[in-house]
Amino acid sequence: MEELRGKTLAELDAIVQRLGFPGYRAKQVFHWLYKHGVRHIDEMSNVPMGLHQALAAHYRLGGVEIAETQTAHDGTRKILFRLDDGCCIEGVLMTEKGRTTLCASSQVGCPLACSFCLTGMRGFQRNLRTAEIVDQVIIVQRELLAGQRPHNLVFMGMGEPLLNLEMVIPALRLLTSPQAVGISTRRVTVSTVGIVPGIHALGDARMGVNLAVSLSATTDEVRTRLIPINAQYPIAALMAACREFPLTRRRRITFEYVLLAGVNDSTDDARRLVKLVHGIPCKINLIPYNPCPSIQYTAPAADVIEEFRSILVAKHFTVAVRYSKGREIQAACGQLAGHCCGQRSG
Ligand code: SF4
Repeated sequence: MEELRGKTLAELDAIVQRLGFPGYRAKQVFHWLYKHGVRHIDEMSNVPMGLHQALAAHYRLGGVEIAETQTAHDGTRKILFRLDDGCCIEGVLMTEKGRTTLCASSQVGCPLACSFCLTGMRGFQRNLRTAEIVDQVIIVQRELLAGQRPHNLVFMGMGEPLLNLEMVIPALRLLTSPQAVGISTRRVTVSTVGIVPGIHALGDARMGVNLAVSLSATTDEVRTRLIPINAQYPIAALMAACREFPLTRRRRITFEYVLLAGVNDSTDDARRLVKLVHGIPCKINLIPYNPCPSIQYTAPAADVIEEFRSILVAKHFTVAVRYSKGREIQAACGQLAGHCCGQRSG
């Protein structure tokens, strides 16, 4: 059975009319799907019983369920979502100064096998569908945020969103449309490890969402070791794509740089990073590595991090050192593995 969640208003209009009901009923169904986040078709209280029955006979709502949540001491919540085929994905809900950020997933697992990432070690199961991407937000809003939208939405969970743009772009449209979920595009960030054609495609789609790029190295030799897809899309091509990415006024690209002791944390790296991002409106997030089981890297010492940061700051970049939240529940960057359904990795 086809899913209703993930359908546009035009698609719902066609469905409702095909089932023999007037087109205006589609707006009601759309509202129930995205504003109220209904979990059952019969919750659509202003929709006639006949349409409930017709929809239920041909369609299912679709989406995800929250199977489990874990809360860290800093309040960060790791969420295990169960999909209808039994696969699981993870998300993270963080709160800082009263503002919530949901870190959502775009794939079950990930094919890119970055060497510092537990998701990559787990391998790839499948792409998420639009309904599953949208519903991570809707169900968190409904069940964990007392009906409030998250202030920020970042696609930094499991998977590489630019490898699933066919499903991610329609999901972004529904998530940012004021008639649907209604999160401001300024508050939505898509994060990539550098899929160059995907950066161009996202730019061409003119979604207006923010782009974050996980750079994490300043030479192709080191970057390919950390992020194997760099062999296909080397640093020069990646930086060229970033320079071409359409940015509206006051928007900047975020460069994420995971700091690994003895690997990419030298002063030479910092100086090369300055040159690489020169001229790009950007901010730089330095992320000291979060230890993961089965991965051998460590974080640099505090003075090494500070020296790296000070080289960037001296060149007038906006730099933040981000110590990931939720480390003790494995909810930090690169730690999501979606343990369930017997798919435990590592
Ligand atoms: S860092 Fe991102 S792209 Fe790389 S393996 Fe992990 S989830 Fe995939």
